Amino acid sequence: MPNEKPKLAMYWAASCGGCEISLANIHEAIFEVDKFFDFMFCPCLLDTKKKDIEALPDSALFLTLFNGSLRTSENLEMARLLRRKSRIFVAFGSCAASGGIPALANQHGLRDLLETAFCTAASLDNPERIIPGVSSSVPDGELELPAFLSRVLAVHEAVSVDYTMPGCPPEPEQIIAVVRHIASGMPLPQSGSLIGCTDKAVCDECARKKRSVLAHKMLRPFEGIPEAEWCLVEQGFGCLGSATRGGCQALCPAVAMPCSGCYGSLDRNADPGASALTTLAAALEPGRLVGSDEEELHRHLRGALSGITDPLGTFYRYSLASTSVADRNPEVER
Ligand code: SF4
Ligand code: SF4
Ligand code: SF4
Repeated sequence: MPNEKPKLAMYWAASCGGCEISLANIHEAIFEVDKFFDFMFCPCLLDTKKKDIEALPDSALFLTLFNGSLRTSENLEMARLLRRKSRIFVAFGSCAASGGIPALANQHGLRDLLETAFCTAASLDNPERIIPGVSSSVPDGELELPAFLSRVLAVHEAVSVDYTMPGCPPEPEQIIAVVRHIASGMPLPQSGSLIGCTDKAVCDECARKKRSVLAHKMLRPFEGIPEAEWCLVEQGFGCLGSATRGGCQALCPAVAMPCSGCYGSLDRNADPGASALTTLAAALEPGRLVGSDEEELHRHLRGALSGITDPLGTFYRYSLASTSVADRNPEVER
């Protein structure tokens, strides 16, 4: 007898697997998922094959949670296939939503990336400088690999997305809440909405208290031990909580780690990196520089921000695929 429950799929493209782990972290609530859904496709957990999905009628999957950004032709093909087969297609996690960590590669050309990964990285032993190609001849025959796309894409850049669930990864409590909402039959949010997060900032969920103090400079995490219960950014640790959408219950500041912004910009229309930079700049003490000339001010700010050793990776850590600075390298094609 065919399984009449709504079909659920979860897929990883250019992904670290953490989004799947987050689903596993809902613990016994996985039985609720199983009760409501026929969990039919998830390469990390289940042995269903691509051909099983191809054999389904279009829109036969009720819900697909698609994590990871699009790095290869295979990622792109799977995004298109699952979009076609799904009624509700969710960009699940920061990589799918806005490129995430893999999209940091967009500041380099593909040739440079392959050269580094296969020829020049310190841990390599590849004197013949062999770089894998899409097609390779080996004694057993011809091997085919998916081709790299010229740049990493957020999923919405390639297929239409019904909802976006941010987070690196989305928090298990938010996953449960979304599953329960769908299972309850309550109306779904408007198409295009963010789900599994709040409209407030991480600061609103954070137990650390602000004392209206400005920091003298931004520190690297190992340069000090933050005082308990006091706002990290006021102590000079680059916490992006005030520019970041809530939903994680301020998980990182709770364990003395600055928020790195994985739930995305609080203002969906703002450039995430610009918002993050503004947040930290506004937390700095201008000191006696009020009224000094522009050059002096720049020198001071550069010094105060010198603890941010990787500005792009700090301010655009999760969002480089879909921002204005994404393709500044002319070798990276749109
Ligand atoms: S969003 Fe984070 S946890 Fe999920 S695949 Fe990307 S890097 Fe991994
Ligand atoms: S800036 Fe960071 S540490 Fe300070 S209140 Fe906001 S989230 Fe908490
Ligand atoms: S505190 Fe920031 S980085 Fe940490 S989980 Fe929450 S949104 Fe993500």
